[in-house]
Amino acid sequence: MLNLKTSEMSLTVSVLRESAGLAHCIQQDMMMMDMTKSDLSPVTVADFAIQALVAYRLRTLFPDAVLVGEESADRLRAPENTVMLNTIVRYVKEILPHADCDNVCTWIDMGAATAGERFWTLDPIDGTKGYRRGDQYAVALALLDKGRVLLGGLACPGLDIDCTPASGSCGVLAIAQHDCGAWCAPLDDPAAPYSQMRSSECAVPAEAHLLRSFESGHTNVSQIEGIADFLNIPGDNMVRMDSQAKYAALAAGRGELLFRLLSPSRPDYQECIWDHAAGAILLEEAGGRVTDLNGLPFDFTTGRKLTGNVGLFASNGLLHEAGLKAIKQATA
Ligand code: AMP
Ligand code: MG
Repeated sequence: MLNLKTSEMSLTVSVLRESAGLAHCIQQDMMMMDMTKSDLSPVTVADFAIQALVAYRLRTLFPDAVLVGEESADRLRAPENTVMLNTIVRYVKEILPHADCDNVCTWIDMGAATAGERFWTLDPIDGTKGYRRGDQYAVALALLDKGRVLLGGLACPGLDIDCTPASGSCGVLAIAQHDCGAWCAPLDDPAAPYSQMRSSECAVPAEAHLLRSFESGHTNVSQIEGIADFLNIPGDNMVRMDSQAKYAALAAGRGELLFRLLSPSRPDYQECIWDHAAGAILLEEAGGRVTDLNGLPFDFTTGRKLTGNVGLFASNGLLHEAGLKAIKQATA
């Protein structure tokens, strides 16, 4: 059973709810101003505002906390991004009235720490493209120690309580702690009880639901189709979804297979730890299995990127060997 009373877990729960509220507020205001990062991916006001907020909350509670976050304030400090920085500060100020341009940049940059022995990792808006489109996204936070994920949480505002995508959904808060299971509750009701998440018991590949990135450029669509063919998975069972919301859906038994193959345009792509740590503990604690495309467990000791791994393959566990065989065949 989950111990929600530890200070780490209660911080995770409260800051994920607070972050999802902030993301929602920025989305409602249609404040979709963004910048393009050096890797050509977009970053919005919400990505920065949430990283500032989480870093501030973490450091206030744990002054020695180490945070490895996706964003950096470097370019925000440039004069051409003043309007964007002021907008971020305006939103952070609604929660932390003493926020200003200097301290917001300092809080964001707390996320530049080295991924050492014990650290937190944050993706303030995982699935930024989905967030901008009004589709799935997640706020993802995890605590790691010596390469092991101790706890992780995802706030998924676009999922309903059964972890299916729905417009007007209550959102899902999904959390897991090592050896204590995976649990979820409605994101919009802090008083609601948690239900235990369990991965699907489907053991027939042809009946599996296969989840992949919404963005075709984040994966290899023709290889995924090859995998589906090999496993006889019908087209109706193929699900496109942004972000680690996919891990939450698998943990809730709403699908069996999740692949992140290498995009032909980025054959050297290395996965980032904040894109997987929270989702991985959630699915494993729900009974599923998480490896890379070669069947190797994720090695979270290699810094900000999973340099010892290639892509992602996650499953309900029962279909893992069949999935690995299909990957081998489709990527040969
Ligand atoms: P998903 O919605 O599953 O594709 O996951 C979104 C994440 O994909 C983002 O947080 C990015 O870090 C990551 N991403 C961005 N570009 C690529 C790429 N070319 N290949 C794989 N992942 C990417
Ligand atoms: Mg991400």
